[in-house]
Amino acid sequence: MIRPTTCFTAECDTPGCEPFDEYTPHFDSVEDAITRLVDEWEWSNENGVLLCRDCTDIRECEQTGHDWWAGCTDKATGVREEYCGRCHAASRLLATT
Ligand SMILES: [Zn+2]
Ligand SMILES: [Zn+2]
Repeated sequence: MIRPTTCFTAECDTPGCEPFDEYTPHFDSVEDAITRLVDEWEWSNENGVLLCRDCTDIRECEQTGHDWWAGCTDKATGVREEYCGRCHAASRLLATT
């Protein structure tokens, strides 16, 4: 028997975002896709906007501020580099002296 198979793939709603590098998951239904993306892939689906994990992190940073972690300090200048532990997209320099 030959059966047609329908499957669903997901795209992040951020323009130009390509959330899957090597493996693109396929889902049986829209509901299955959203449930598994949220539970297993840490995506978010709020107000009809579907965002991948990275974009969810970036949006959270935009709304609540970055989650700053201390990086290394330049002993000569006393300038410490901090980076965001959530979105990994932001860093800042702080004078510690
Ligand atoms: Zn994305
Ligand atoms: Zn951040």
